[in-house]
Amino acid sequence: MLDIAAIRAETPGAELVLHFNNAGMSLPPRPVLETVKSYLDREALIGGYETEDASQDLLNGFYSSVATLLNAEPDEIAYVENATRAWDMAFYSIPFQPGDRIITARAEYVSNYVAYLQMQQRVGIEIDVIDDDAHGQVDVAALERAITPKTRLISITHIPTQGGLINPAEAVGAVARKHGILFLLDACQSAGQIDLDVKAIGCDMLSATGRKYLRGPRGTGFLYVNKDRLDELQPPFIDLRSADWVAPNQFEWKAGARRFENWERYMGGQIGLAKAVDYALTLGMANIEKRVCHLADTLRGALSAMPGITVTDLGVRRGGIVTFAKSDESPAAIKDRMAARNINVRVSSAGSAQLDLPQRGYDALVRASVHYYNTEQEIERFCQTLRDA
Ligand SMILES: *Cc1c(COP(=O)(O)O)cnc(C)c1O
Repeated sequence: MLDIAAIRAETPGAELVLHFNNAGMSLPPRPVLETVKSYLDREALIGGYETEDASQDLLNGFYSSVATLLNAEPDEIAYVENATRAWDMAFYSIPFQPGDRIITARAEYVSNYVAYLQMQQRVGIEIDVIDDDAHGQVDVAALERAITPKTRLISITHIPTQGGLINPAEAVGAVARKHGILFLLDACQSAGQIDLDVKAIGCDMLSATGRKYLRGPRGTGFLYVNKDRLDELQPPFIDLRSADWVAPNQFEWKAGARRFENWERYMGGQIGLAKAVDYALTLGMANIEKRVCHLADTLRGALSAMPGITVTDLGVRRGGIVTFAKSDESPAAIKDRMAARNINVRVSSAGSAQLDLPQRGYDALVRASVHYYNTEQEIERFCQTLRDA
């Protein structure tokens, strides 16, 4: 089990704020902070290239750490500056033809959906949005029925930014495999929150960020690409990291997922994220998942018992993101009132969830996202503050 007191003792922010904005950015643990700071110090003192040369083991360790986290191979991992660009590198690598179809779901992330719309404008693809089932998760049977010979991609968000839903990624992956269709999973909120296994999920591409549940630095992220599908993909950008200029008129892509990377990068962030992944692996992803889900369920239970509060999370399986509405106070007013008491929550609004919140009748919700380092006492204090309007 997790030693929460010890974990909080090495989380500098834990006693300063009541942080229920882990879906935005988690409070990093001291080992991550120190890894990044000392890398930056070293760059300033001995030179950036020289620090890089001296840090090859740490930089390479990033790939094996993330591979372990995902049950992938190190050469299936690319370091990318954020989850959105990682996702973009995968999505824009697919050679879409006019009439090709993409299948997605209601929980889809804003930046992904606007990319579908752009591809629709640019190439003339079609977008099939699958409805939710009775539990509010993607309806996997309907998804399978929507497949046509033109379906080129299944692309869903695992855990949306706007709620506790954990979409049934494994069931979607089984359908994708059965039909041999590329499957891109946005795991931005699930990485570091729940145990991920790309082989069990059956996704071909998976994107995630460093700063959210992994507790890594901002400006870091990664992409997983199944090495068996590499040949079907054509990265949208190229540089001296992703390819070799082998003759004046000839280039060759680098082997493996490196072809999705940039040469210039935030090196301190790369080893900081590796440290964050190692930190999570040491605690154990199963332990983390259990604790996050337990705390979130506790919070949902306490909120549901309060008059005037509606908990709005969907799905059979629910994670650490708790959303709710209050009958007599707006989400923005709640957020501001909480902020005045050193409590961090966020507002999720329709503009980032056009296929989800408006059709459920909400234009905004309070998002209180918990992590394993939060406590039952914090949940009590949070609910007390909410009551003291
Ligand atoms: C935050 C988020 C992203 C974007 O992550 P960045 O690191 O900001 O690019 C993508 N998908 C989901 C579901 C998210 O919550």
